[in-house]
Amino acid sequence: MGDVVEFRPRKPGERAKAKTLCREGFHKWEIWQRKPFDVKLGKLVTILKCQRCGETKTETR
Ligand SMILES: [Zn+2]
Repeated sequence: MGDVVEFRPRKPGERAKAKTLCREGFHKWEIWQRKPFDVKLGKLVTILKCQRCGETKTETR
């Protein structure tokens, strides 16, 4: 009774390493959303999201 359980979702070092990679521009992009063909741009728009830091970028083809 009354035990304090320390909760750690992740190892601290793991997260620091991932953040460093992101900061240096090595994001882990994955396709987040695909928009239908953009008539205005005349291009196919894909939204990519980094699995680690959650940053997004838009890619047009
Ligand atoms: Zn990132």
